[in-house]
Formats: sequence, C-alpha cells, structure tokens
Amino acid sequence: MSAPTVPFTGSPAIGLVCRNCSAKYPIAAQHACWECFGPLEVDYDLDKLAKVTRADIEAGPQNIWRYAPLLPAGVDPATRVSLDPGMTPLIDARNLAAALGMRKLWVKDDSGNPTHSFKDRVVSVALTAASQLGFDRFACASTGNLANSVAAHAARAGVPSIVFIPYDLEPGKVTASAVYGGELIAIEGSYDDVNRLCSELTETDEFETTAFVNVNVRPFYAEGSKTLGYEVAEQLGWRLPEQVVIPMASGELLTKVDKAFTELAEIGLVDDRNVRVFGAQSAGCNPIATALHAGTDVITPVKPTGIAKSLNIGDPAAGPYAIEAVTRTGGWMDFVSDDEIRDGIRLLARTTGVFAETAGGVVVATLRKLLETGKLDPEAETVIYNTGEGLKTLDAVAGAPTHQVRPSLKAVREAGLLG
Ligand SMILES: *Cc1c(COP(=O)(O)O)cnc(C)c1O
Ligand SMILES: [Zn+2]
Repeated sequence: MSAPTVPFTGSPAIGLVCRNCSAKYPIAAQHACWECFGPLEVDYDLDKLAKVTRADIEAGPQNIWRYAPLLPAGVDPATRVSLDPGMTPLIDARNLAAALGMRKLWVKDDSGNPTHSFKDRVVSVALTAASQLGFDRFACASTGNLANSVAAHAARAGVPSIVFIPYDLEPGKVTASAVYGGELIAIEGSYDDVNRLCSELTETDEFETTAFVNVNVRPFYAEGSKTLGYEVAEQLGWRLPEQVVIPMASGELLTKVDKAFTELAEIGLVDDRNVRVFGAQSAGCNPIATALHAGTDVITPVKPTGIAKSLNIGDPAAGPYAIEAVTRTGGWMDFVSDDEIRDGIRLLARTTGVFAETAGGVVVATLRKLLETGKLDPEAETVIYNTGEGLKTLDAVAGAPTHQVRPSLKAVREAGLLG
C-alpha cells in the first residue's frame, strides 16, 4: 500500500486506523473499516507529536487551537472553522470536596464554551477537517448540544447547516439551535432513530457534500474531545490527575480523554501516571455501565428515558472502548436516578457556584455513588467534568421556593425573612 496522503497543512495525522483490526486508510471522510466495519480513528506520526513542546503549546492562543500540533486539522489558523472554544476554568472545588469527604477535587467546567457545552470542541475540529475535505454544508444527529454548536459554527463560517434532533428535546436546546438560522429538523423518534436516519442520508445524492460531524467525519469529531484531557493536564501544571469522572452518551468523550492522557505521557509532556477513568450514566440510559457491571463489553441497546437527555444514546458507538479504558485503568462506571441527578445539580451549584445541565448532575451524583460504594478513592486527586450549562435544562430544577411579599419593610419583617 502506498503512503497515505496528508491533505491538511502541518497536521501530525498520517491517516485513519481501524479501532478493531488496525487496518490503515488515508485521510478521508470515512468512518468505518471496509475489512471489519469497525470504527476508524485518526492515526498520528508519533515522531512528529514527540517534537511538540510545552513552550509551543503555551505560546498558542487561549483556546483549543493551542493544541493544534496534537490535532488532525487546524495547524494553519487560516483553515479553522471555529468559535474558538476551550481553556475553560478548572475549579478547585473545596466546598464540594468537604461535602463529600474528599481530599482534593476539581471541576473542569465546560459550560462556558461559546454555545455552552463541550461540543464546541468536537465541532470545531470536525468542521475544520470537513471544510478541508471539500464539504460545503454542515449537519449532525444531535441529543441537543451538538445541534446548538453545529448551527452556530455554520453561522460563523457562513455555510448552510441542517441539524437533526429528536422531537422531545428541552425547549432551551431547541431555541438555542434555531436562533442561528440553519435548518432544524425534529424527528419523531429517539436519538438512535435520528442517527440511523442521518447515516442513510449520508449515502444520498442530496447529501453528497454535507458533513455530518458525528457520522461521516466522526474520526475528526472524536479527536476534539482530547482537548478536555490536554487542558486539565496543563492547568494542573503539566501533571495528570489520579482519577477522573466523565459523563457518557456514546462513550467517545471518555475514550478520548483517556487517549489524551496516554498521548501526553508518551510524548513526554507529562510524567507517566495511571489515571483511573470513571464513567457516569443515568438510570434512564445506562447501557455501557450495565454491560461493565455484567462483566461484558457487548452492549445491549436500551430505549432511553429520563431527564439527562444530552446523554440519551441507547446504542452507544464507543461503549466497548469506554469499557476497555475503564477496565485497563482500574476505574469503574455507575448510573444514577433522575432525583439523584437533580440533587447533584443542586449540590454542585451550592458548593461551587457552577450551574450544570443534567449531564453535570449525572457526574456529581455518580461521584457520590462511587465514593459510597468504595470504588473511588476519596484521598486521590480527582477531576470531574461538567460538560454543559444549567440554563439549557432549567426545568430539571425549576420550582425553587420563593417568598413573595409586599414592597414594605414591615411586610418583609413580618414574613420573618431577615434573620
Ligand atoms: C454529548 C454530550 C456528552 C457525551 O458525549 P459522548 O462523547 O457521546 O459520550 C456529555 N455531556 C454533554 C452535555 C453532552 O452534550
Ligand atoms: Zn477493521
């Protein structure tokens, strides 16, 4: 086989590689292996990665593109299709640690990205690659946040977009996609139905030049999640934490944070250290955690229910790889009920000032459960990921008690509110 071509200027990517059988392919808009139908991921020139220094990265912009030398596309700033997400706060969560009896805990808060979820990272990388590959319309199958991000990126780039969502999403997420002016199509079905439909659409003439960020350019999309690993290491002073807790929908984010930690150690940017990786799901959609608990990596798809809609993928593509990462590192997975999720959102808000969407509630509640069951070490340095913004899922914690009184000092005094 001839050497794979590298169409992206300066990129360390040398091709695509099958996650199952290791078959190699040139850089292209291809997501499945022709030999075994396994998923493809980006393959890098390790020698080139190993030349990247901390100083190179620190000299970069205050966003994900400081890691461009470790990403498949976007080394040349002129090629970027991006809202420039990233470098979100890593918060020292002392009060939350105290509430949970932990020694050292940080919250990586990705709610502050341009469209208020970590999806801006994956979309920026996917669409930068997609535009280099010649696509002229942007699309996705979304559980909500991805649609927000794709529509916004397309608006910034001046490219048409068409995003597909399940019909029963939170109003906040529907509005936050529609406002950017692209096509928004609500499908009468679950996310898994939407995803299947989008896979079919990529095969049609009408969609020949349309990039579905999480379907036909998925290998590039997935790499964007690595930046959530890189940033935590850099923000800790070029050091890896001992434990991380990550929400899972497809399971991709978890596998790529693990990949980022492994890569950083391999290329010498941090000291090697085993990072125990923990996965969090909701009880309404827990196919990955359930498989792990049953001692298998064969995922049985479920029909999702419950309030953590951004995580409601019943047939998670990266599930087996998430189980592999968790098993290899000595982590674990668990899942929590809707009431526990609400409590998790409130606990995080009260102890850190971070208002998370339901996915963040899943992570905090799962952290608590992992501590209670002794799976997670309260003495070890731990980072939890909040991947989305609470204002998009207000209904989850709506109905807070308020005191309504007449506008007079007397009325406020009589209500007994002044302590
Ligand atoms: C999409 C999403 C995730 C999980 O992403 P996967 O990579 O599919 O596991 C987590 N949190 C939020 C808020 C999301 O929107
Ligand atoms: Zn293969």
